[in-house]
Amino acid sequence: MKKFAIAVDGPAGSGKSTVAKAVAKKLGIIYVDTGAMYRAVAYFCIQKGVSTLDEKGVLPLLTEIRLEIQPQRGGQRIFLDGEDITDSIRTQEIGQGASHVGTIQSVRQKLGDMQREMAKNYSVIMDGRDIGTYVLPEAEVKIYMDAGADERARRRMGELKAKGEKPVFEMVREEIIKRDENDMNRKCRPLRKAEDAVYLDTTAMSIDEVVEEILEITKIRIGEV
Ligand code: C5P
Repeated sequence: MKKFAIAVDGPAGSGKSTVAKAVAKKLGIIYVDTGAMYRAVAYFCIQKGVSTLDEKGVLPLLTEIRLEIQPQRGGQRIFLDGEDITDSIRTQEIGQGASHVGTIQSVRQKLGDMQREMAKNYSVIMDGRDIGTYVLPEAEVKIYMDAGADERARRRMGELKAKGEKPVFEMVREEIIKRDENDMNRKCRPLRKAEDAVYLDTTAMSIDEVVEEILEITKIRIGEV
């Protein structure tokens, strides 16, 4: 089978990772969650006592950081200095920190290179903010997943509650909107729909419907896989 790549971009809480994991499982390809890599950099900064807003402080940490991504069937684990941090990085604080470090060009360069390397030898579905536009501009399939802010906040509430947290809707909604603004307006590789990406408004769609839609688009673009 010919190697191919599916790039999935979109704002926070649009359901990218849930859907991308399911598509990866169905197609038997590797899922790469690039947001986890930005989150890991933020986690490392916080661990080292460096503000994620302090570019001069963050830069030297980039040469120190030891990140390892382990693809798993329908998922991914991420390790920092050998420690599995996959679950510890799923907090709102780390999400916000990831959005800060994501504005730093050297951070994007380093993580972008790692991401391209992962797609070099295997078929992947990769989700993030700049995958179709910068990381994998040659991807055979490009999807831009969107949903209304209220629906995205509701989805994020569900995830946080499932982890035993007690989120407040207004705060979750505000955090999502702030992060989107930051991601869409940064100078370096902002969140944009690639010109050749298919725009999917998933506000009124179920996960299964979105997965089916992406499988259908993939079949049309690259044939039976
Ligand atoms: O996808 P997730 O919500 O885990 O991403 C966390 C943050 O990491 C995003 O809000 C964004 O600022 C940053 N990010 C990015 N580029 C990517 C993936 C994530 O800037 N490709």
